[in-house]
Amino acid sequence: MILVTGGAGFIGSHTCVALSAAGYDVLIADNFSNSSPERVDGISEITGKSIHCVRADVCDRGAMEELFSRYPVDGVIHFAGFKAVGESVAKPLEYYRNNIDSALTLCGVMSERGVRKLIFSSSATVYRADNPMPLDENALLGCTNPYGWSKLMIEQILRDLALSDPGWSIALLRYFNPIGAHESGIIGEDPSGIPNNLFPFVSRVASGEIRKLHVFGSDYPTPDGTGVRDYIHVMDLAEGHVRALGYISSFSGVEAFNLGTGKGTSVLELVRAFEKASGRPVPYVLDDRRPGDIAVCYANTGKAEEKLQWKARYGIGEMCRDGWNWEMRRRKG
Ligand code: UDP
Repeated sequence: MILVTGGAGFIGSHTCVALSAAGYDVLIADNFSNSSPERVDGISEITGKSIHCVRADVCDRGAMEELFSRYPVDGVIHFAGFKAVGESVAKPLEYYRNNIDSALTLCGVMSERGVRKLIFSSSATVYRADNPMPLDENALLGCTNPYGWSKLMIEQILRDLALSDPGWSIALLRYFNPIGAHESGIIGEDPSGIPNNLFPFVSRVASGEIRKLHVFGSDYPTPDGTGVRDYIHVMDLAEGHVRALGYISSFSGVEAFNLGTGKGTSVLELVRAFEKASGRPVPYVLDDRRPGDIAVCYANTGKAEEKLQWKARYGIGEMCRDGWNWEMRRRKG
């Protein structure tokens, strides 16, 4: 059985669908601080299987011990954590406490129970901004905000843990920009309030919920002047976790992998693709750069292709199609 912490969240829920389709028995632990139990029902609806789910905070050692004693967990995918970059700058102590404490608590209980297979949900934000593109896994590491640092610090903790005990098998998955939704439209991303990230913002402009998009920067050294990112379909990302789980079953130590498409898309290219997929206009204004943003960021995906036998399958058009399908269902309630 695979324990998925934060399994009711955006990437977690899609990964549970992929795990279940691959034949794994899935147990979700989530405190629903930024998601809801309905998401778990959605996973069951898609998979046609009932999903084990426990409402628990990963920082709660007693709750984690009970969970490990009740269920035959033999591997863990750790998604649970705070994830808003801007909020992390305003609330650094909360971010460090929650993200690092949950990782420490989880690993402590895993260690006690002899469960040493772990996939950690990391981010491309652990790479320094001044690396040449595309980024491979050996690029220089360093962050610009507490969210990113918490990811990088946990990576380091896991490296030290694996050094202390060769029984550990750990994959650090560095995500680029996950977007889109399951093709059924039953689950997807549902940020509360006004979205910070481009894709959910564009979806809500297309639906009419938000009047217009502010394009942050039109004078970057990119073909159309707007920021370029490596957007990846969340179901491709989910499949990457299934492959990583297979990989660590016969591997000992720690290994980092980029999960991206290797292809850059600009803000305006994404806007056009979304307009095409939705048949709706996405009005925008060109605005100033957002502080802390870089011009271009995309992955070298060679390592994941070679070692995980994994490659993203979906293009930007399919990401927009599935994201729009979810957006329409979400609005209907
Ligand atoms: N972006 C934008 N308007 C928005 C939100 C984002 O122009 O309302 C741009 C942002 O400057 C970046 C790209 O969209 O070039 C992706 O931003 P996002 O926040 O989704 O991801 P990240 O910055 O973490 O890569």
